Amino acid sequence: MRWRFLLALASASISFAAGAATRDDLARVETALRRVAAPWCGRLAALDAQGQRRCNVSFENLGPVGGGSAFALLDGTHITDELLAVLSIDELAAVMGHELAHLVLGHGLFKLRQQQALAPNEMRGMALSLAERVGVEPHEHTPAGPRAQELDADTLGLVFAGMAGYDVRRGAALWRTAAARIPGWTAHGGATHPDDARRLAHATQVAAAFCRAVAASRPPWPAEDRLLPAYELSRDEALRLLDPTALAKACRKLPPARASRP
Ligand SMILES: [Zn+2]
Repeated sequence: MRWRFLLALASASISFAAGAATRDDLARVETALRRVAAPWCGRLAALDAQGQRRCNVSFENLGPVGGGSAFALLDGTHITDELLAVLSIDELAAVMGHELAHLVLGHGLFKLRQQQALAPNEMRGMALSLAERVGVEPHEHTPAGPRAQELDADTLGLVFAGMAGYDVRRGAALWRTAAARIPGWTAHGGATHPDDARRLAHATQVAAAFCRAVAASRPPWPAEDRLLPAYELSRDEALRLLDPTALAKACRKLPPARASRP
């Protein structure tokens, strides 16, 4: 009887260790993503004290708000305590990479323009001119539909996470269990987001392509031109920033599924 109790305790602590990212983890992910994504950040990047270009995007913890979510707005990304508490650090990097990707792809600006063209109003007009001042200009081939934009953000976000040395296969696997683990997840924008099965299939492919490129010593970037740094010089900078140790870490072999069970 006693060993059963101990086993239950051990498995509880193991599943706790699989998630439960901390605010320190968020700060670590912020530092790493702001470095690797700098060539994508355009006007959202600036030189730091050491003369290195860094994305100027803030990573804010919103505290407890009653549900698990993350979002991007103007020049900042945000995550709630409830979401932070259930993610592993690899998943956290994929989620925050996704939000950062929305910003560097100009998706917020794109949507505001779309809405303003459809039904102009003064408030939105003010938000739009603010977004045009601080935001990144979207690529001319940005997909018009919100679901396709979500998949673009999933792709580039996972690539950012991988370049920073976070495990891309573990990051992609988030979508397998998101609905069961994240409080309030079923309420997560069905009209604007692809379903979890679609995102899992997509992210799994992105992770596989990333690791194939790493194995072949090619830049593990997305194939789509709209997801690459906008300027030729920024692409050279992105090449220089590639860190073989981080890339190998991002693609380390997963232990067989049974070995990870208690
Ligand atoms: Zn999104």
